Amino acid sequence: MIKKIVTDRELLSQPCEPATAEDAALAQDLLDTLATDDEYACLAANQIGATKRVVVYRDAADRPHVMFNPQLKRGLRPSRVEETCLSLDEASKVTRFDQIMVTYDELVEDTLIPRRREFRGWTAQVVQHMIDHCNGKLV
Ligand SMILES: [Zn+2]
Repeated sequence: MIKKIVTDRELLSQPCEPATAEDAALAQDLLDTLATDDEYACLAANQIGATKRVVVYRDAADRPHVMFNPQLKRGLRPSRVEETCLSLDEASKVTRFDQIMVTYDELVEDTLIPRRREFRGWTAQVVQHMIDHCNGKLV
């Protein structure tokens, strides 16, 4: 189901709760909402009003992906970048790693399977932005 993007700072500032396999419908809502605009690179569940650790993002080939409970494990080559957010009006300067190692869960047939993945460049930046949202941190 397509949802409205939340801009309420108080809701967006709350750290999100761990997601479970029960949040499959929420993941689908995120994918549906992401698909409504080519400009959307990523969305966190709290941006559609659910304070759970579920995020979606598009990779460099424009394919959407879902991550449950993403966590940043390691980062290399930090730099200052300017970033925008769907939920905020103005761009901000933040420090992002160019290369990251992330753990997350993938929902496979009603079960969450732990995964680990490395991201670089633009996708790494997007994923760090999503992990910040899960932690209730705004750029
Ligand atoms: Zn954002």
